[in-house]
Amino acid sequence: MATPPATPDDASPHAARLEEITPGVHAWIQPDGSWWINNAGAVTDTTGTIVIDTCATEERTRRFLTTLTTATGGAPLHTAVNTHHHGDHTYGNSLLPATTTIIGHEHMRRSLLADTFLAHPSPYWQPAPSWGDLTLRPPTRTIRDELVLTAGRTRVELHHPGASVHTGGDLVVWLPRQRVLFTGDLLFHRVTPMIASGTATGALRGLNWLSTFPARHVIPGHGRPIDAADLPRVIADHERYYRLVLHTAHNGVRRGLTPLQAALDCDLAEFATWTDSERIVINLHRVYTELTRSPYDTRHALADTLVYNGGPLHTSV
Ligand SMILES: [Zn+2]
Repeated sequence: MATPPATPDDASPHAARLEEITPGVHAWIQPDGSWWINNAGAVTDTTGTIVIDTCATEERTRRFLTTLTTATGGAPLHTAVNTHHHGDHTYGNSLLPATTTIIGHEHMRRSLLADTFLAHPSPYWQPAPSWGDLTLRPPTRTIRDELVLTAGRTRVELHHPGASVHTGGDLVVWLPRQRVLFTGDLLFHRVTPMIASGTATGALRGLNWLSTFPARHVIPGHGRPIDAADLPRVIADHERYYRLVLHTAHNGVRRGLTPLQAALDCDLAEFATWTDSERIVINLHRVYTELTRSPYDTRHALADTLVYNGGPLHTSV
């Protein structure tokens, strides 16, 4: 049966597209960038292909890898980089060829091995994600700060931001010659950022750090690619959002509100139209732990997010 054409708001797997950013550099862009629907990428040279992240489900990852293999004339896939441990970027690792070297930050590897969402059906999302036949496959090589890969004549740099930003084990992929930056989830684009596994203060520092890359093309972890002219605005948007989260959390703690009460009391204003705006609850939970020095409780934060949302979180993954 022929694949139906994608509509602008189509978030189904067949709406994903492989875009050639510059010769040999591809981005796998998956609308609508909502829960579990990420972007990935690849760099191909004479020696083969380096993949940047996989996808959440078997179907989405197979689509990505099959489309990429066709576009690159069957170039062998020898290396993969995981920008962080979240399942939307890593669950598909097990579909990579057995000989693939998978690289991630050392903290990312530990966090992926502690993942429970792949093995246990989750009540938080609806329809419940159907992962397919996938198993956790952690990196075989870890780094702490940075690493330079050379693929043919292409220099591929991996950098850690030096702080806990989106997670404790974030990496960006920087191609200095092509001036292409794959940010992982250090940037979202018109999708609400999430710092459940990171810190708000680190996220602010991470924005300054991202600004130091003289990028022409930026591939965020979720949402449409960002060109150089638009990048300062996108970074400024993130900064205002993180400052709103920090301000709301400080006020909430001072007034004795719970994170959920603080979220319900918060006017998201310009950010109310961003996809997954209910993440304000999760983000406040995280900042509360920073302010009150209490442990972050994933289940509590998600349960509160469902209350705020009026039911399970929608996903088209
Ligand atoms: Zn993430």
